Amino acid sequence: MFSGTTRTARSESDAAKQAVSGTNRCEFCQAYSGHRDAFSVVWEDADFMAFRDRSPASLHHFLLIPKIHIDSVKDLTKQDTDMVRRMEKIGNDILDQHQVPATHRRMGFHVPPFNSIHHLHLHVHALPYTSLARRLKYPVIGGFGTSDKGFSWFAEVGQTIRILHRGSTVGTFPC
Ligand SMILES: [Zn+2]
Ligand SMILES: [Zn+2]
Repeated sequence: MFSGTTRTARSESDAAKQAVSGTNRCEFCQAYSGHRDAFSVVWEDADFMAFRDRSPASLHHFLLIPKIHIDSVKDLTKQDTDMVRRMEKIGNDILDQHQVPATHRRMGFHVPPFNSIHHLHLHVHALPYTSLARRLKYPVIGGFGTSDKGFSWFAEVGQTIRILHRGSTVGTFPC
């Protein structure tokens, strides 16, 4: 009986340690768990946080992340539609604060394996891009027929909302 109790206690503490070290391994989890000084935070509430991209690809380039670890846009399902709608709204609020006209806004997610950081982040851009090479990292390719998005490594936020809302998932291929 005693050994059983000991084993349970040990495995619980191991699980706790793993959870902590898992958080520490993710660069973006650190933004809201003790290393926020390393980030240029521009917006925050209980559930989301936005900071400037360290290597801006456009006039203003922010990254908006949820304060829970989600690997990527590929992991989102229909039940996440409202979360993405909230992210779109927050992204627009941030761009409002920087007086960015509607025609100069672009927001979206990189689709794995084309994401550099494996923590869901919405790219919030005020155009123009700083170079053609940078612009090509964020292509918005329209869908055709029943798809909302064509073949691309970037899912624009509106496309993402429509795809999730109809119960599909986001990928590189038309969806
Ligand atoms: Zn994370
Ligand atoms: Zn990205």
